[in-house]
Amino acid sequence: MTAVQGLPAALLLSSALAGLAVWKRALTAGGTALAWLLSVLICAFGGLPAFLILAATFLCTVGAGRLAGERADPRGVRRKSGRRDAVRVFCNVGVGTAALLLAGPLGETGARCIYAAVLAESLADSLASKLGPLSTGRTVDICTLRPIEKGLSGGVSLWGTAASLLGAALVGLLSLLFGWSLRLAVLIALLGFMGALLDSVYGSLLQVKYRCPVCGAVMERERCCGVPAERVKGLRRVNNDGVNFLSNLTVFALAWALLAAG
Ligand SMILES: [Zn+2]
Repeated sequence: MTAVQGLPAALLLSSALAGLAVWKRALTAGGTALAWLLSVLICAFGGLPAFLILAATFLCTVGAGRLAGERADPRGVRRKSGRRDAVRVFCNVGVGTAALLLAGPLGETGARCIYAAVLAESLADSLASKLGPLSTGRTVDICTLRPIEKGLSGGVSLWGTAASLLGAALVGLLSLLFGWSLRLAVLIALLGFMGALLDSVYGSLLQVKYRCPVCGAVMERERCCGVPAERVKGLRRVNNDGVNFLSNLTVFALAWALLAAG
C-alpha cells in the first residue's frame, strides 16, 4: 500500500486516536494537533501495524499514568508538568516518525524496524517511570548504585526494570504484525529495553537536579519549601523531554547501524 492509497485510513484512524486523547484529557491542544499529524504520517508511511504500535504506546502510557497516579512520584520530586504538550509528544514520537520518512536507504522493512525499536524504547521508558515507583523495593541510581528517591530520573528498581521489559516486549510482539520473523521482533524488544536503560543513564548523568536548601531533598523541581533550590547535578537545560529525545535518537542510530551491518 502506498502512502497516498493509505491516506483516507490514516486520517480516519489518527482522528479516532486524537479524539480519544481529547476525551481522556491526555494531551494539551498543541500536543493533540502534533500527535494527530505524526499519527497520519506514521499510518501513511508505516501502515496499520505501525499505527497499532503507536496506539498501544499511547494507550499503555496513559493507562499506566492513571494506574499509578500520585504514586508515580510519591515525594513530589518531579517537575509538575501535567498533560503532554507538543514538545513532549515530539520528544517521544518525533524520532520514530522521522525513521519512517528518512530510513529509505534501508528499505521499507529497515525503516519500519527502526520506527518500532524507537517506539519500544518510548513505551519501555514510560512504563518504567510510571510503574517503577510503585515498587516496594529499593530504587538505586543506575550509575552510582546508591539509593535515591523514588521517581527521580536515573533511578532503577526491580519493578521499573520489569515494566520496561514488558513494554519493549509488547512492541516487539506487535511488530510481528508486519509479517516479520521472530528474530526481528526480539531485536526490536532488546533495542527498546537497552534504550530505556540508556535513558536512565542519561537521566542520571545529564538531567538537571536540584537540592532544597531548607529540607535537603534532591529533586527535579526548581523550587521547594518556598525558596529556589540549588542545582547539584546535570545540565540546566536538560529535562525529561530532552533525555527522552536523546534516548530515542540513540536507539535510532543503534538500530540503523545494526541493520546497515546486516
Ligand atoms: Zn524543601
